[in-house]
Amino acid sequence: MESYLAELNDAQREPVLQKDGAMIVIAGAGSGKTRVLTYRIAYLMSKGVDPFNILSLTFTNKAAREMKNRISKIVGSSEAKNLWMGTFHSIFAKILRFEAEKLGYPSNFTIYDTQDSQSVIRAVIKDMRLDKDVYKYKQVYNRISSFKNSLITVKAYFQNGELQEADAMSKKPRMGEIYQAYVDRCFKAGAMDFDDLLLKTNELLNRFPEVLQKYQNRFRYILVDEYQDTNHSQYLIVKALSDKFQNICVVGDDAQSIYAFRGANINNILNFQKDYDDVQMYRLEQNYRSTKNIVNAANSIIDKNKTKLEKVVWTDNDEGPKIVVNRLLTDGEEGRFVASSIFETKMQNQLSNSDFAILYRTNAQSRAMEDALRKKEIPYRIYGGLSFYQRKEIKDVLSYLRLLMNPKDEEALKRVINYPARGIGQTTMDRLNIAANQYEKSLFEVIENLDHLDLKINSSTRSKLQNFVNMIKSFTILSQNADAFVVADTVTKKTGLVQEMKKDGTPEGIARIENIEELLNGIRDFVEGQKELADSTGSLAEFLEDVALATDMDKDTSDEDRVALMTIHLAKGLEFPYVYIVGLEEDLFPSAMSMNTRSELEEERRLFYVALTRAENQAYLTYTQSRYRWGKLVDAEPSRFIEEIDDKFLDYMIPQDDYKYKPLIDTDIFGEVDKSKLRQNKPKNGTPPPAHKPTEQQLRKLRKLKPASPEPVKATKSVNLSAGNEVEHMRFGKGKVLKIEGIGQDQKAEIDFENGGIKKLLLRFAKLKVL
Ligand code: ATP
Ligand code: MG
Repeated sequence: MESYLAELNDAQREPVLQKDGAMIVIAGAGSGKTRVLTYRIAYLMSKGVDPFNILSLTFTNKAAREMKNRISKIVGSSEAKNLWMGTFHSIFAKILRFEAEKLGYPSNFTIYDTQDSQSVIRAVIKDMRLDKDVYKYKQVYNRISSFKNSLITVKAYFQNGELQEADAMSKKPRMGEIYQAYVDRCFKAGAMDFDDLLLKTNELLNRFPEVLQKYQNRFRYILVDEYQDTNHSQYLIVKALSDKFQNICVVGDDAQSIYAFRGANINNILNFQKDYDDVQMYRLEQNYRSTKNIVNAANSIIDKNKTKLEKVVWTDNDEGPKIVVNRLLTDGEEGRFVASSIFETKMQNQLSNSDFAILYRTNAQSRAMEDALRKKEIPYRIYGGLSFYQRKEIKDVLSYLRLLMNPKDEEALKRVINYPARGIGQTTMDRLNIAANQYEKSLFEVIENLDHLDLKINSSTRSKLQNFVNMIKSFTILSQNADAFVVADTVTKKTGLVQEMKKDGTPEGIARIENIEELLNGIRDFVEGQKELADSTGSLAEFLEDVALATDMDKDTSDEDRVALMTIHLAKGLEFPYVYIVGLEEDLFPSAMSMNTRSELEEERRLFYVALTRAENQAYLTYTQSRYRWGKLVDAEPSRFIEEIDDKFLDYMIPQDDYKYKPLIDTDIFGEVDKSKLRQNKPKNGTPPPAHKPTEQQLRKLRKLKPASPEPVKATKSVNLSAGNEVEHMRFGKGKVLKIEGIGQDQKAEIDFENGGIKKLLLRFAKLKVL
């Protein structure tokens, strides 16, 4: 047996060794689904399957990279390079580039990000003179996105009475026209939005049987991770591509389906067996990730869901510490608790920052965590906020780059035509817009042909426009021979962007210039990396595609030692030794918007299951007594999810005598471990108590009663140690003290451990026994 196969248990090895046919692996969190996919690919290659014939679809590009690295180690990197691996969006964007012209798009089509799409929708709403308070652009965008993901084209929309009626009922009878106008504008601009990358792929495979065949033959083996979260559009692509050979392996966990709100369809996993002939179903049961406590607690939660496939998950790992539950007064205190706990756990166990993650339900909760981490000087990184590429100054540079690649790209043109200021004002733009509509040309084409058009634009403005067009064209010519870095470097200099920022001189202005430098560094790295690949030159087109689909999650940060902060949705598939799940309060988690139906509540519960199962060694759950919501301090009630966990897995931190003190705000201080008390602050007569902020005095008083950041681990009494002493540590075993440094609270010992090598420990925290 190849040695890597020994790194699988028997149940995992079965789907890896089944070379052909359709198969589905359904298994709980941490049971090795992703590992099965990875090893299966390595195995296929070892059996002579050409990597060019393998397509593997993952949830993030980062996951794809990690899988590829692992496979490289098994089969060698030159072979692994040729695998097709990535997210649905990145893989099919690549395919669409080859085939775009069949669909009437230029092969250098732009990919509009959410900001671009929403900006187009705003313009459409404005041009149609609709009430922007009724037609809220974000809502309209989401609606159109959901049409696209269900493969409802404009034509299909107008044939569907029910959809039209639903929009009329919600006072948006002109939704269909907006949809139409939006699609037309994107098409005219040579742009596809994110949803188009799937929709157009479906169109391509449906309309052109020869193209379908080509890719069916190419991708003889298809693998999909996180199958439970595929939407209809993705489902159809996979189905079409795998239809001929039916060599398809999907893995997933119905208990981790958390994207229904974005169109993911759990039925894809439930119906898989009907979709293919002779489907083999595999189950994995052993969890390798987490302690017994975590695995069992997670099982006890998901048990509460009615809609689920029955599954067994167990682990051979240690019992582990119980899940710590802590109640804090406010979100500020919650942040301080988490930061101190991380600090102390890290000190005590000699850990890295990257061993910790803080997970929350909504992005807004990150602020309190950030404040506290900053105060304690703990480095952190937020995932999924505004990504680097969406910052204004970065988008400005990228818009120039997009425009020179695709002059029809209207969003890019609008962004940069008068930035830095060139005296091309809104009136001129309005006139150009009207002309573009009238002649059915792009804005750029209108500007190019100004001399032949009868427009009310004076000669000075005309020459400014002409200069702009000439500049962009000169960049385009440059890009035909130079790599992405040379082009980007020239663009930032020649357009005057950086000079404009230098004039600014404020700290923000300087930060912007630094960001642009960072962008250029990034492009240089990208170009160097690409040039190593056989079929790549590091061109601007390659770079733009990479950027358009880069999510914050994908950045390679393996060398950064930081605490990770992210929403639970983003944490899917990841694992961390220590996980803090914060804001476990009713109306926040579960979210207030999810209480209407059982299925929504069950999705929240699955989300909690995902959160808890990210933890390897220990999980912490926190909630506050009062929290600012919509600008008001309101009483918070502990989440029902805490109650749903069997008590035997939990360890409450709230001091026993805490509840003896008189309540300081309208809620009870439910200090005891007795769970029935947990929800006692529920408004008894149905009307919630008035929300008000506790006074500073009240806060001080409460803090005096209870340390603001209760220590999660008891510090040991001072020990008298000196060099040469023999000691024992609960984790590193026996060791010999080499030297002692520092005094008082900061005293550290350098110890040579039998099991752990030489470590420096803060004596205040290290539980050392002197032998
Ligand atoms: P999730 O549902 O969260 O995506 P998963 O089922 O994909 O989880 P993996 O991420 O593949 O699980 O595996 C969880 C952890 O267990 C990983 O660290 C993995 O390396 C480890 N693991 C999986 N199988 C084994 C095994 N047979 N021996 C040792 N470690 C394993
Ligand atoms: Mg996984």
